[in-house]
Amino acid sequence: ENFKAFNLQPYLMTALQKIGFAKPTAVQAKLIPTIAAGKDVVGQSQTGSGKTHTFLLPIFNQLTSENQVQAVITTPSRELAYQIHTAAEQLAAEAPFEIRIGNYVGGTDKQRQVNKLHHYQPQLVIGTPGRVLDLIQSQALDVHTTRQFVVDEADMTLDLGFLDQVDKIAGRMPKNLQMMVFSATIPQRLDPFLRKYMNHPVIEEI
Ligand code: AMP
Repeated sequence: ENFKAFNLQPYLMTALQKIGFAKPTAVQAKLIPTIAAGKDVVGQSQTGSGKTHTFLLPIFNQLTSENQVQAVITTPSRELAYQIHTAAEQLAAEAPFEIRIGNYVGGTDKQRQVNKLHHYQPQLVIGTPGRVLDLIQSQALDVHTTRQFVVDEADMTLDLGFLDQVDKIAGRMPKNLQMMVFSATIPQRLDPFLRKYMNHPVIEEI
């Protein structure tokens, strides 16, 4: 299998070449077409499977130059947020238009983020649930235009007690949103959340 099969925009093919990815991983081959088709997905996969690009590539493929939030990714730790942000910036660097990526995690200067958000909204948001919700509740970040929402490391999000914040973030988004949940395990305690937000999800165990 080859990345060509995914009909990605030329700039993304350039970015993949520069990053040095020769072919999709198993999770990418299985889920990128599903996500590109607009389906909700539950991906049960570990870190190291290439899941970051599984959601980043179809998200980037749909981003437009419009100055509004189009996709949101939450992840439970600052470190994971920075990793996803780094991967996203590598893709954005090749885009023929400006792609603004907001990276919002706890322990950073919130007022600076609020000031910037009053000038423009990022097209893509990557952050930890607490800070993302805080910026929404401060009327700084506006997620009502979101088309795609990725809940990364859902089991860890639940264990750390952040799922309630994720629920509140989703509550500010349109109902017809595409939801993607990635989790190393799918504990039963995750079921109420999945039932509330997932619409006929494709469940893929990698
Ligand atoms: P992840 O599971 O997203 O954290 O990715 C694990 C590692 O695999 C990261 O270092 C990625 O940069 C790398 N990776 C992701 N997709 C590919 C690919 N298609 N080919 C080679 N390496 C990849």
